Amino acid sequence: MLRTDRRRTVVVTTGVGVLVIIAAAVVGSHLAGTGPSASVATTRPTHPASPPKAAAPAAAPGKATRSVPAWASGAAAVPPTSDPQLLAGRVVVLDPGHDGGNASAPATIDQPVWNGREMEACDTTGTETDAGYLESRFNFAVTALARADLEAEGATVILTRSNDTGVGPCITQRTAIGNQAHADAVVSIHADGGPASGRGYALLLPVDDGVNAGVVGSSTALGIDLRNAFLPATGMPVSDYDGIYGLQSRDDLAGVNLTTVPKVFIECGNMRNATDAALLTDPTWQARAAQGIADGIKVFLTSPRG
Ligand code: ZN
Repeated sequence: MLRTDRRRTVVVTTGVGVLVIIAAAVVGSHLAGTGPSASVATTRPTHPASPPKAAAPAAAPGKATRSVPAWASGAAAVPPTSDPQLLAGRVVVLDPGHDGGNASAPATIDQPVWNGREMEACDTTGTETDAGYLESRFNFAVTALARADLEAEGATVILTRSNDTGVGPCITQRTAIGNQAHADAVVSIHADGGPASGRGYALLLPVDDGVNAGVVGSSTALGIDLRNAFLPATGMPVSDYDGIYGLQSRDDLAGVNLTTVPKVFIECGNMRNATDAALLTDPTWQARAAQGIADGIKVFLTSPRG
């Protein structure tokens, strides 16, 4: 997510892991057979997971190897054609993490806010590549592209910020935008500041804290749909350091603690890893990332549960 974030990875206990798998199984029916299978669940390695050897970045979508789970085979159930009415009446909020002006406004972004469990900073600067490409810039670029993809299919898309030159808004305000819009889906778009040796993308999912209790299941479904769509669209592997098969539960993020609508974060890759950074800063790959996000949202919204 961000090198300077106060981030605390939730320890994935056996219980939480089981919950994730159960949730995956519950929503599996609308994944047209692409969700984690029972065999995946029963053979899931202990944490830290050995990630599936997802398609290498240069590999074409669908060039899965035997070590890739069925859900990562590139067979995501994405509606095949562009339909300008497909998402008519549906509201999607896209939240590009951080903001380009945050670094120059510490007094504003350091203000404490309640994240549902504890106080934390209003916002953070995010991470950057070794070459100084800011995460906020990546987040906004991908968000703008995903917005266009979704609007082309009739969705009403609301952004939590309209450019990459401002400050904030606070993480609580970003969450309120989705809640007040009664959004059908919200995706907070980020790139991670993980260990330099680590690669890949991950979906960050809510943990029941009361406020979000009604949307933990639907958010998990959204996260699985995004996870399944992102790999075939982008070739980015699932994270080899964050979560299990690209899914990580988090209880320290206002964005998922305070949501009352289906919401997840996506960490599209690791800006601190040279291989990922080359992709994350490539406009062509950014368009693929946006398409993957739009595809995942589309699957979620057009499924029986969406
Ligand atoms: Zn971030």
